[in-house]
Amino acid sequence: LVARMRPFGTTIFAEMSALAVRTGAVNLGQGFPDTDGPPEMLAAAAEALRGGHNQYPPGPGIPALRAAVAAHQRRFHDLAYDPDGEIVITAGATEAVAASILALCEPGDEVVCFEPYYDSYAASIALAGAVRRPVTLRPAADGRYAFDPDALRAAFGPRTRLVLLNSPHNPTGKVFSRAELALVAELCQEFGAYAITDEVYEHLVFTDAASPHVPLAGLPGMRERTLRISSAGKTFSCTGWKIGWVSGPAALVSAVLRVKQFLTFTNAAPLQPAVAVALALPDDYYTGFRDGLQQRRDQLVGGLTDAGFDVLTPEGTYFVTADITPLGGRDGMEFCRALPERCGVVAVPTQVFYDDVDAGRRLVRFAFCKRPEVLTEAVTRLRALT
Ligand code: PMP
Ligand code: GLN
Repeated sequence: LVARMRPFGTTIFAEMSALAVRTGAVNLGQGFPDTDGPPEMLAAAAEALRGGHNQYPPGPGIPALRAAVAAHQRRFHDLAYDPDGEIVITAGATEAVAASILALCEPGDEVVCFEPYYDSYAASIALAGAVRRPVTLRPAADGRYAFDPDALRAAFGPRTRLVLLNSPHNPTGKVFSRAELALVAELCQEFGAYAITDEVYEHLVFTDAASPHVPLAGLPGMRERTLRISSAGKTFSCTGWKIGWVSGPAALVSAVLRVKQFLTFTNAAPLQPAVAVALALPDDYYTGFRDGLQQRRDQLVGGLTDAGFDVLTPEGTYFVTADITPLGGRDGMEFCRALPERCGVVAVPTQVFYDDVDAGRRLVRFAFCKRPEVLTEAVTRLRALT
C-alpha cells in the first residue's frame, strides 16, 4: 500500500456495522435509514430497469437528471446552474468530493476543513498529496458547535488551495450560519482559495435550527469559486444508490469531469431517471420527511438524556453527538467497542473524525434515521447502562 494511504485503516462505519451484525446489536452507528424512500422514485427506478435503461449513460449524467438538479437548486436556493456544463452526476457525494479535490489540488497544497470531518475527506486529501488544515468545532455556551474565527483565519496561508465545508454538518448536526459562512467567504477571497461544499444534508434542517441552510455558493463572490456537492442518499433515503452531483462554474466542473471520467466514467443508468423524479417531488415531500426525522431526533435526544448522556441537540442531519463523561466514560472508542456487549447498541466514536483526538475523545455519535420502535428499543437498552 502506498505510504500516503497507510495511515488509513478500515472505515469506522464498516467496523461498527460489522460489530452490529456480529453481536445482533441495534445499529445506531452508520447513518442509513431503515425505511425506503418515496414510492414514486422506487417505481421510476423499477420502470427504468425493465425499460432498457441498462447501458452506459453519458459521462456527465443523463440530461433529465442534470436538468432536475438545476431546477431543484433554483427552486430551493435560488441558484442558477446550466445543466449543460455546470453540473456533473457522480457516484454519490463521496466521488464528487474526491474528484473535486483531485481536480484542484497539487501535491503540497493545503485544504482548510472543519473537524470533526467526514472520514473520506482526509483520505481524498491524502490521495491528492495535499495537506489538511483542520479548524476545530467545539461546543459553545449557546449549545451549538462553534469555531474560533481567529483559528479559521490562522488556518489560511499562501499554500491554501481550497476550503472543504460540510453544512449541515456530520457528525455535530451544526448548521453554519450566514455570518459564519461570510467569514469563510471573505477568507476564500482574500487568499484566492476555492471552496468545495458538501451539502448532502441540505434538506435535513430542523424547524428550531438557529439558521436555515445557506449554500456558500450563494454568498457574494462565491459562485465563481465554489463546487457545490449534494446527493440523493440522504434526501431520498437511498444511501445504497450512490447518485450525487457537483455544480459550479463551467471551468471548475469540467476539471472535475476530467478526473471523474477515469474514476468511474459514469454512474448507474436506471437510478438516474428515478432521482430526477424524486428531485421534482412537491414541497410536502421535503417538509414531511424533515418533520418525521425531527420527531425521531427529539425521541433519541430525550432518550439519551434520560440514559445519562450529556447531549447537544443537533440542528440538522441524521446524527446526535453525546458526551459520555456523566456515565463515567473516558474514551469514546473504548466505550463504542464495548457498548454492544454492555447493552446491545452500536454507536460511532466521534474522535476518529478529528486530528486533535482529545477534542472528541469523550464524544460518541448516534444516528436517529431509524423507525421509532427501533429508537425506543435502543433507548431502553441504553438506560440499562446506569
Ligand atoms: N458527506 C457527508 C457529510 C456524509 O455524511 C456522507 C455519508 N452519507 C457522504 C458525504 C457520502 O455521501 P454519498 O453516500 O452520497 O457518497
Ligand atoms: N455517511 C454515513 C455516516 O456518516 C456513512 C457512510 C459510510 O458508510 N461511508 O454514517
